[in-house]
Amino acid sequence: MTATMQVHDVDLTAARAAAVNAIDAAAGELIALSKFIHANPETALEEERASAACAGFLEERGFAVERGIAGLPTAFAASVGSGEPRIAYLSEYDALPGLGHGCGHNLIAIAGIGAGLGLAAALPHLGGRGQVDVFGTPAEEAVGGKVIMANAGVFAGVDAALGAHPGTSDAVCPTVEGSGQSLACVLVRMSFHGRAAHAAADPFNGINALNAVIEVFNGINALRQHITADARIHGIITHGGHVPNVVPDFAQAEFFVRAATLAAMNELVEKVRRIAEGAALITGASLEFEMPEDANADMITNYTMASRLGQHLAAVGLDLPEAKPEPGMGSTDWANVSYEVPSVETSFPIVDRVCTWHSQEVVEAADSEMGYANTLAVARAMALTGIDLIVDSDLLASVKDEFARAKAARGA
Ligand SMILES: [Zn+2]
Repeated sequence: MTATMQVHDVDLTAARAAAVNAIDAAAGELIALSKFIHANPETALEEERASAACAGFLEERGFAVERGIAGLPTAFAASVGSGEPRIAYLSEYDALPGLGHGCGHNLIAIAGIGAGLGLAAALPHLGGRGQVDVFGTPAEEAVGGKVIMANAGVFAGVDAALGAHPGTSDAVCPTVEGSGQSLACVLVRMSFHGRAAHAAADPFNGINALNAVIEVFNGINALRQHITADARIHGIITHGGHVPNVVPDFAQAEFFVRAATLAAMNELVEKVRRIAEGAALITGASLEFEMPEDANADMITNYTMASRLGQHLAAVGLDLPEAKPEPGMGSTDWANVSYEVPSVETSFPIVDRVCTWHSQEVVEAADSEMGYANTLAVARAMALTGIDLIVDSDLLASVKDEFARAKAARGA
């Protein structure tokens, strides 16, 4: 060994203390950042002030920041360190139209940023290992920013991704429908083009596009008997003609097709496509079949990582019940991250009762003492979990093994 080489040691006690101290020292500023986002609610893809404030906050504290990633002006990536493994925290900051922060994403923002600050402070005690990434992920409530970011390869090279979503007193770890699972989901739009004619005088000269849409509904209703109980197909007619005395030359319907896995969803979409093609065939209308948005995958929660996070949550005073892995019927953009990187999103309570979500009650809870106190506790637990993932190679190997098995089981 030459004199210029440094011997890197892992000092776990010092690392943990540094993480917790960094979060505690920044608590006032983190809460101020969250209050700023709460007071200036911005909806999906318009989170200019929130995104700038979050990215600036991290940059001022030593993170290298890249703004406008994945073609999304309000997305960002911030990082410290250049070792292995890479641990990512995901921050959201979009609000709900007409309501404000009725989902508490102003707290999600500082949970991820706080955890990132904590882990960054711990890195010097981890023997040159590790990199911490904080991703600003816009448009969770609409569009699905994480879907676009995952498809753009933003999470390539990340070894584990963690995040937290506020909830009520029945919060569990992991979250997502209380189970860690969600349905894959895609929007399907079918447009039928027919031929207009007088609906009474010469209907035989018309091609009725609305009839094609009606046959699609009939076909899908017949299909329902033969799909698994965890699949969902639900739709509306977005265009059905103008007046009853003109044979509709254009009609359109939109459906959400959901299933337990991305593969099962794709199979179901093909059955829906054949129904639409059949409807075109029997009516003579022509069909345009589109999926105008990228699909949400199903959430692959990493229960190994969730369990370790749960231990740290308990240690910082948030003793949450462990979720049972069972089908969850919602869909989330986190799921697309979970196909790329072992992922866990925990829930945590910001009110001491069960209340309606996306409500004024949540707007108030998202700017409450309990809300901030528990968000900072979650940030500490996520930072401590990040330290474990960096220093405990057996833990990370188990996390990656579960991830590989879960993907293989889905044929992904
Ligand atoms: Zn939310």
